[in-house]
Amino acid sequence: MEWGRLTLAGAMAAQEDENWTPVGDPATGETIGYVRMCSEDDTREAVASAHAAFAGWSGEAPQARSAVLRRLAGLISDHTEELATLLTTEQGKPLAESRAEIASAAGYFDFFAEEARRVNGEIVASPRADSRILVMHKPIGVVAAITPWNFPVSMVARKLAPALAAGCTVVLKPAPQTPLCALALAALCRMAGLPEGVLQVLTGDAATIGAVLTQDPRVAFLSFTGSTATGRLLYGQCAITIKKLGLELGGHAPFIVLPDADLDKAATLAVAAKFRNAGQTCVCPNRFFIHDEVYDDFLGRLLQQVDRLVPGDGRNPESTLAPLIDEAALTKVERHVADAVAKGATLTRGGRRAAVGRTWYQATVLENVGPDMLVSCEETFGPVAALSRFTDVEQVKSAVNASQYGLAGYVFGRDISSLLKTAESLDLGMVGINAIHLGLEMAPIGGVKQSGLGREGGHAGILDYCEQQYLLVGL
Ligand code: NAP
Repeated sequence: MEWGRLTLAGAMAAQEDENWTPVGDPATGETIGYVRMCSEDDTREAVASAHAAFAGWSGEAPQARSAVLRRLAGLISDHTEELATLLTTEQGKPLAESRAEIASAAGYFDFFAEEARRVNGEIVASPRADSRILVMHKPIGVVAAITPWNFPVSMVARKLAPALAAGCTVVLKPAPQTPLCALALAALCRMAGLPEGVLQVLTGDAATIGAVLTQDPRVAFLSFTGSTATGRLLYGQCAITIKKLGLELGGHAPFIVLPDADLDKAATLAVAAKFRNAGQTCVCPNRFFIHDEVYDDFLGRLLQQVDRLVPGDGRNPESTLAPLIDEAALTKVERHVADAVAKGATLTRGGRRAAVGRTWYQATVLENVGPDMLVSCEETFGPVAALSRFTDVEQVKSAVNASQYGLAGYVFGRDISSLLKTAESLDLGMVGINAIHLGLEMAPIGGVKQSGLGREGGHAGILDYCEQQYLLVGL
């Protein structure tokens, strides 16, 4: 499959030298392919191509863009098994999770195929009889998209679908751990009829590519998903050319179980949310606050489910616990667990590397977690459930709102009044109430505080890729 200057088949066949970089399988450590190290010149060229393609793509009728996106959604669905296998091979998550991610990506293209036809303007009441005020939404221009490795298909789809629907062209830099998924998606874009130049994929050194993307004045919008630290750096770099920014950054989600919660449901969804993708999910719970009255009952149910998790190669249908992406991720998890234990937490389950392979960590449960521990302050990004008891929900709210992060959280209970009051009092962009699957294409995904700027998804999601233009018409 070919796409612009990058060829997936060519990438797989290339030899390792300074112009190529290997892509590994986190489960086995084997090299599964090579991708080009794109240079500053390649990046400028990609921006120039995207800039040149903008007039044509944005000038297409919305119905024509919609048709391409709809075909793309169909192609993604038709290629679910190939894409899911590739995703599991380069990222590690179990195949069932990969299939769900592919379905989510197809859902984004399908949803924004519809939204492409609904970018409506406004006629505002004029103060004068001899004038009219028209407000238009025009595609913003060239979008630079930088994406992480933890959801290498759906994070790309979340940016690409609204950007292309609005009429923008895109230069995409995927994470180095998972570039093949992005290249495969780009190949499907081409098969769907996306014109040449509308999407460029750049692989290689992040700082080199990022410096050009953030400083080139032809890039109008930077859409970034990744850590808060990188988001902060890119925010600064974009200041020079005053770019519009969309930032989807780190999280530190609380999971609160109120005394009247359905404990079976809470424990089942707690394990699903926490251990999906081995805890390498921006919205996965990092801190569990369990009401003292139900703590022991909840813990028993949680441990039963944790004990059923099976660490193993994602291609094996029995496996339910993925490896961590690399050694650095493993070291971070070890540091968080060691810090918690040193400061008085009880290690109830796990706490060590799992023997199945290089980068697996055991499903771990910590109790008696205190506010001064790293697990209470930073994103662990691993399979560690950190539990503490509470009696006063006001103290939990204060602890949650003291965090610099404000991405997602969860509240479980039965009394609708307590649930809504608790959820509304939390400084979070998204709250699951007796529910965990927040990543829906029709909903606004995003965080507050240092978890990000803007929202992805939902009807308003496409407007982020547009600029308003106001026309005052004299009659
Ligand atoms: P990361 O280290 O910030 O990297 C994200 C992307 O940014 C990668 O492609 C990375 O490439 C690139 N990058 C790093 N430095 C750059 C620079 N100077 N210029 C341009 N690009 C640069 O994050 P990650 O470890 O891949 O992803 C995990 C983080 O993403 C977590 O914090 C998670 O919470 C967050 N996340 C947030 C959401 C959300 O919706 N809010 C969704 C998913 C993930 P290199 O690796 O080559 O440096």
